[in-house]
Amino acid sequence: MAQTKDFYQVIGVSPSATQDELKKQYRRLAAKYHPDKNPGDAAATERFKEISEAYGVLGDVDKRKHYDQMRQLGAFGGFGGGGSRSGASRPGAGSPGAGPTGAGGFRYEDLDVGGFGGGLGDLFGSIFGNQRPGARSKGPERGQDVETSIEVPFRTAVSGGKVSVELEVTEECGQCHGSGAAPGAKVQTCPECHGRGTISFGQGGFAVQRPCPQCMGRGSVPTERCPSCNGAGELRARRKVLITVPNGVDTGSKIRLKGQGGKGSKNAPPGDLLITFTVLPDRFYTREGLDLVAHMPINIAQATLGTKIELKSLDGKKVALRIPRGTSSGKRLRVRGQGIEKDGARGDLIVEVNVKVPEGLDEAAEAKMKEFADSIGLKY
Ligand SMILES: [Zn+2]
Ligand SMILES: [Zn+2]
Repeated sequence: MAQTKDFYQVIGVSPSATQDELKKQYRRLAAKYHPDKNPGDAAATERFKEISEAYGVLGDVDKRKHYDQMRQLGAFGGFGGGGSRSGASRPGAGSPGAGPTGAGGFRYEDLDVGGFGGGLGDLFGSIFGNQRPGARSKGPERGQDVETSIEVPFRTAVSGGKVSVELEVTEECGQCHGSGAAPGAKVQTCPECHGRGTISFGQGGFAVQRPCPQCMGRGSVPTERCPSCNGAGELRARRKVLITVPNGVDTGSKIRLKGQGGKGSKNAPPGDLLITFTVLPDRFYTREGLDLVAHMPINIAQATLGTKIELKSLDGKKVALRIPRGTSSGKRLRVRGQGIEKDGARGDLIVEVNVKVPEGLDEAAEAKMKEFADSIGLKY
């Protein structure tokens, strides 16, 4: 079996390429090397197969994610992701049996991708928590970006305001500053991986390198672990953040708060906080774009004879409204410029009339109603 090539190199795109860029480049190459266009050209056919195989993985978002994970762990040879501490370029990583470039190089398609997510993925997950495998580095590292979605009351979303949220972030342990060592502890070569930081992991006939669970990829272990983080060098921390909700946000609106994510290590800048809003319903108002819709119940007499009503706009102003005679349920009356304000634009306030029919009438009222029905020849 030939050494497996990096699928990104095969297609000729950067690992950070979007699915769209990938697809375009794949189509270009596939058209060029298609066997129909190159009859009898074995090299072209081989290239075409290679491209198809690579795109079969990278073109599928889930498979690509798994591939990227494995790639970062150095499973596919010497092109482990930049910054990865578990890359095969570490001294000694090419020892017998462990060499990712050795015979029987790991091929992605050897994996049952369906079972992979629940197998290897879980294994990595359980060893390394939810951090990106191989993401540790000795240098300063920008803090984690934290994504969260928060619910805001309808009126806060319309007018803006403040909402407090509690976030869980991964931060460098303040006690050991990320080293994982207890104060005064010595740091020694990891006995498990002998300082390589990676160990060889075999399953079903292939071997991959993965970060050593004992030293978590550092290659060294302290004689005594930091009691605060138990040697992990980082901690899950809960942080309370007061968020300023901009006026006019709607469900699905996103904002990015620079520097409000996880703390960086070694004075590196913190990550960002990415927030997606969900707007809670209001009893009285709904919204349609920038228009605010008020649902106004009136009774059958008001609907028939017409009336004047008064309601409060969201900013507390009294709005008087004339309901004309003969107004049916669902009729909408528009008050210009009293809707939601956003980016200099302002919607209208729409009052939607809802005629409420009385459920129980006393005898006298019922008699009047019957009289009314008789007068216009209605059956009841
Ligand atoms: Zn180790
Ligand atoms: Zn610590």
